[in-house]
Amino acid sequence: MDKLINENSIFEHDFDDWVKFFSAVGQPSYRAGQICAWIWRRRVFDPEDMTDFGKDLRARLAELLDFSPPEIIREDKSRDGTRKFLIVTTGRAKVETTLIKHGERLTACLSTQVGCPVGCPFCATGSAGFERNLSGGEIAEQLVLMEKHVGREINNVVLMGMGEPFLNTDAVLRAIRMLNDPKMRGLGVRHFTISTAGITPGIAALAASGLGVRLAVSLHAPNDELRDELIPCNTNYPLKELVAALKNYQITTGDRVTIEYALFKKKNDSLEHARQLVRLLHGLHVYVNLIPANENKNGYERSAPEDVLRFQSILKSAGFESEIRAEHGGDITAACGQLKGEENASPRPEPATRERGERMSEQKTPRGRGGAPCRKNPSVGKLKSSKNTNDTKRPNDSTNAMRRRRSSSNGRAG
Ligand code: SF4
Repeated sequence: MDKLINENSIFEHDFDDWVKFFSAVGQPSYRAGQICAWIWRRRVFDPEDMTDFGKDLRARLAELLDFSPPEIIREDKSRDGTRKFLIVTTGRAKVETTLIKHGERLTACLSTQVGCPVGCPFCATGSAGFERNLSGGEIAEQLVLMEKHVGREINNVVLMGMGEPFLNTDAVLRAIRMLNDPKMRGLGVRHFTISTAGITPGIAALAASGLGVRLAVSLHAPNDELRDELIPCNTNYPLKELVAALKNYQITTGDRVTIEYALFKKKNDSLEHARQLVRLLHGLHVYVNLIPANENKNGYERSAPEDVLRFQSILKSAGFESEIRAEHGGDITAACGQLKGEENASPRPEPATRERGERMSEQKTPRGRGGAPCRKNPSVGKLKSSKNTNDTKRPNDSTNAMRRRRSSSNGRAG
């Protein structure tokens, strides 16, 4: 098993880990509940402030574990109330997360990878390349850090920030279990949404997990030719396979799936595209979010409002529920497809054309560990240890496979 980037971090411990830890240091198991309450409910990260532990135990904890929290090193505020944070995780990765306000409710959009290997040409994250997967703790800690920063609980979590969650499935599911555990953060499963570009093994794994979190799929195109361009992993998981995976998912879970469809001017927003989408989604229980595309630098323009409405009317007349999603945080590049995690960007991989059917396999590391080297960040020198630097040099199977395909081919963007 690969080791964690920072295995001593308190944010990497789930409840069972804490029970084992306290047992190993000769303490009763109820200590696990106490420390989880401090970290995940009260957002207290300094053992000196954990007042129901005696002085000796506090000193022992400080000696054995790394209590250094993740840090927010930049914050941008949008006119619409959306906030974007550049975070240095406890594993020293820099990722961006956003916090979106809907009335009194807050939704956190968490990152799952440093960069993204999928490489959608309209997406700033994909354009910035890929460094590594985040661990379960690095994903979960983003939520509690934002809650501490804004001084209140966050109501919903979407795994829709930097990265493709189902290329890091084990770590994503671990993070959700930690945040869902009533002995830890206790956020209900129906308050989580995983958004995928259509990695079908991840969809199957989510169904099999029995977790009950919500699923969204970024579709963006109603035929394979167009989707190969817009979402390059479509060459690995074409639409026929994706639709079959969604049908199986719905048979297993009974859940409705949200379909995200970003509309790009004269690219995927015609009447014929809308009719193709109706045929593609026939027989699925879905809710379609139409997203007028956000600004990007690769020439994909936002559809005209009348074209968005016309597209929606085709869906509605075919009986599909649909809404046109309001943009959040566009003025601070916090909207969908705009997160970049500045300073972590490695050069974008060469554009790729993959052979249809060539597989991008799921990551095999049980807790989403491993990945490419983590760039050292002097600003987080206070972290105590990062024991396994050798382990961090090993990208996961799926990412390696994707990189090999990219470097051995040429062709369209993405
Ligand atoms: S849109 Fe999603 S899957 Fe595509 S490159 Fe961006 S983060 Fe990755």
